[in-house]
Amino acid sequence: MKTGARSETRIETQTQTRQSRLVDRLGGGLLFDQPLSELCSFGVGGPLQYLYKPGTTRELQDALLIASELAMPTRFVGLGSRVLAGDWGFKGLGIRLGGALAQVAVDPQDPRYLLVGAGCPIETLLPQALEHGIDASCLAGLTGSLGGALLAGDPGYDAELRTLIDSAEVIDREGQVRWVVRARSQTIARLGGFAALTRVRLGPRDPDLDTELAAARAKACQEFRQAFRPEGPFLGPIFKNPEGQLASHLVDRAGLRGARIGQAQFSLVQSNYLVNLGGATARDALELMDLATYRVKRKLGCSLQLEVQLMGAF
Ligand SMILES: Cc1cc2nc3c(=O)[nH]c(=O)nc-3n(C[C@H](O)[C@H](O)[C@H](O)COP(=O)(O)OP(=O)(O)OC[C@H]3O[C@@H](n4cnc5c(N)ncnc54)[C@H](O)[C@@H]3O)c2cc1C
Repeated sequence: MKTGARSETRIETQTQTRQSRLVDRLGGGLLFDQPLSELCSFGVGGPLQYLYKPGTTRELQDALLIASELAMPTRFVGLGSRVLAGDWGFKGLGIRLGGALAQVAVDPQDPRYLLVGAGCPIETLLPQALEHGIDASCLAGLTGSLGGALLAGDPGYDAELRTLIDSAEVIDREGQVRWVVRARSQTIARLGGFAALTRVRLGPRDPDLDTELAAARAKACQEFRQAFRPEGPFLGPIFKNPEGQLASHLVDRAGLRGARIGQAQFSLVQSNYLVNLGGATARDALELMDLATYRVKRKLGCSLQLEVQLMGAF
């Protein structure tokens, strides 16, 4: 056998061994070659080698431990509005929270509080929080999961969350589960030092909450956000706002509002978002992002940093 063929066989065997160990440990919950285009809101992305949807903190803890033992690249995908997945997919383990980690429950220890899985879509959470006497209207109109919102959220959003979040459950980098209390969880986006956000304790309920007023606040907030959001599949915000500036204004001033490569376009509604006009590729999106970075630097002398996370091979 030639050397090339031999090393190919060895890599194949190693992959099979890794796969069988992963299957053994995670059981039937593992899915193979799922299209990332269906997991990310922009609707692009090749196959995800392994997808796991843990339904409990314990399951997630085990999955992270196994992935670490196997030295397997691991990424979280909430609802994927800030993740650009490559056309050639991602080799490794993708985790999307499921079961109780994507649901809302009353805290059995203290029914004034709600325990919300970090994977819970904000749209699902809002009406349940209101019904429970918790005003979560500051989250209305956000399209992602609660975990994604807290982790991808600009630190400027912390003030709005301060009254809402009591504490958060995280799995730290050593694999230990711990609760971060309110004083710290308000800075959860910047806290770092943990591998996963699993659940968030919201409350306490306000027995005197004017639910009509809170619902009206949520509606206003939703309408406001919707007015600045593109129609159809979108990705963003693409760039972080540089100190004292808005990334969308910089993209505008660089003459790129509405600029298009292939089927990806800087939104006409808000230039810090990309829209998928139908059949865009990750490569189209990446090229547009590179173009904006280059033009903004050249024309305006300002360095743009990516806010979206890149995942996999482009
Ligand atoms: C109060 C508030 C106001 C906001 N206002 C706006 C706004 O006006 N406009 C706007 O565009 N955005 C806003 N955001 C941010 C917006 O909510 C998020 O971009 C969006 O919700 C992301 O959710 P997602 O599920 O799509 O996250 P994803 O894009 O799936 O994930 C985002 C990142 O978090 C990681 N991640 C996700 N879940 C977990 C987890 N459980 N554990 C570890 N890592 C995880 C992912 O790997 C990825 O890196 C706001 C956020 C807050 C909190």
